[in-house]
Amino acid sequence: MHEMSIACSIADIAREQARAAGAGRVNTVEIEVGALAGVEVESLRFCWDAARSGPAAGAELVIHEIPGRGHCPGCDLECDVDFHVALCPRCEGGLRILRGRELRVRSLNVD
Ligand SMILES: [Zn+2]
Repeated sequence: MHEMSIACSIADIAREQARAAGAGRVNTVEIEVGALAGVEVESLRFCWDAARSGPAAGAELVIHEIPGRGHCPGCDLECDVDFHVALCPRCEGGLRILRGRELRVRSLNVD
């Protein structure tokens, strides 16, 4: 499962950062997930419960969802994008993706 490997990667990062900071425990892990990143947020939450371990065993996962946003170089229109809207609604040109592909750890709270 795709989300399981992502959850494991996040848990790895959390454990490494906790060790680097000399912290015994990770309280929260905040991540950013773009609407176009191809990640099922509910599935990721579910996988997180299984993936967290060691100092991150009790860590809460806080997910910030980033909406998709695109720009049309043809007519200079900026608009919302999702998987179903990849073309400019005005001129049907191909959109350049500005936001929404994020998948990264934003911050950790450790003790
Ligand atoms: Zn356009």
